[in-house]
Amino acid sequence: MANEKIILTGDRPTGKLHVGHYVGSLRRRVELQNSGKFDKIFIMIADAQALTDNADNPEKIRQNIIEVALDYLSCGIDPTKSNIFIQSHVAELCELSFYYMNLVTVSRLQRNPTVKSEIQMRNFETSIPVGFFTYPISQAADITAFKATTVPVGEDQLPMLEQTKEIVRKFNSVYDDVLIEPEILLPDNKACLRLPGTDGKAKMSKSLGNCIYLSDTEKDVKTKIMSMYTDPNHIRIEDPGQVEGNTVFTYLDAFCKPGHFEEYLPEYANLQELKDHYSRGGLGDVKVKKFLNNVLQEELNPIRARRKEYEKDIPEIYNILKKGSEVAREKAAQTLAEVKAAMKINYFEDAELIKEQAEKYGQN
Ligand code: ATP
Ligand code: MG
Repeated sequence: MANEKIILTGDRPTGKLHVGHYVGSLRRRVELQNSGKFDKIFIMIADAQALTDNADNPEKIRQNIIEVALDYLSCGIDPTKSNIFIQSHVAELCELSFYYMNLVTVSRLQRNPTVKSEIQMRNFETSIPVGFFTYPISQAADITAFKATTVPVGEDQLPMLEQTKEIVRKFNSVYDDVLIEPEILLPDNKACLRLPGTDGKAKMSKSLGNCIYLSDTEKDVKTKIMSMYTDPNHIRIEDPGQVEGNTVFTYLDAFCKPGHFEEYLPEYANLQELKDHYSRGGLGDVKVKKFLNNVLQEELNPIRARRKEYEKDIPEIYNILKKGSEVAREKAAQTLAEVKAAMKINYFEDAELIKEQAEKYGQN
């Protein structure tokens, strides 16, 4: 159907989901799902992509499928409204990737800034797995297979969306108008584009071990917040403090809502007043951290409670994923058939071709 509004998004099952995923994409997905403005929503657990840099550790991926699924459900993804599926169970995605590979050059892949920094982070410089190097192409297959119009993700995914759009334009101009150019939907809040780790490093990432997980206990979250990176030069309470680049304030930017002050810190009217006091000096880290702890626990409490409920029936979760993968497969197969027809490699459905070849050999 033309003009359908379709969402595709997902996560790699390399660990449990953290609050970076939540503010970068997951919270938005739930809002979009509940807005009723989308015709279809596909949420992918990207196990095949996760294997591209974890080939020697399939057990890690296997263990984390259920964790990611539980995190989705506990955040409010509703399987009756959103289709959750497993990437490796939609074989059509591999086929699409294989054809898209012909439309992308090696030098174009080498310029992808996210892949570049991930290669550095993983010390892959001299031994980059081909699958990892080409994952932006496989991601283009994931997005286009579902004819996604909207992809809600964090900022690190911008280069992937650019690559996808290029493939779509190339495919449509070389073959036929089959694929849809997707739009990236980034968080509007700057702090959520790329939430830093609790160590102050540029990105909270499962692979860096600097995360607050959605499934962390109340106590764990508090411990992580109390030892969080702030301003290393803010030693005594009366010292003026730096707000910029101070992880605690970045998290407040990402999570704080107006009502929080009235509830937990009524001596300040809003976040700006708190920041001003910190900058002037006279406000200690502990007080700000305790406030952040209250704010974050309020957000995480209902997520934890829902998780407890879903944890009671694990086989049912696998069932949801299995059914979701079947639905996803149907949609991807439809697109693949259109792609193959556009590329004219649908020989057996092409009566014209068979007739033409027969005539060439003198048969009518
Ligand atoms: P890995 O280290 O295995 O790559 P990851 O923590 O980077 O894991 P992904 O599964 O690669 O997580 O990312 C899933 C989604 O979450 C993407 O949309 C990505 O943009 C978003 N995301 C991940 N980390 C953050 C973050 N720190 N801030 C905002 N969004 C994030
Ligand atoms: Mg990542």
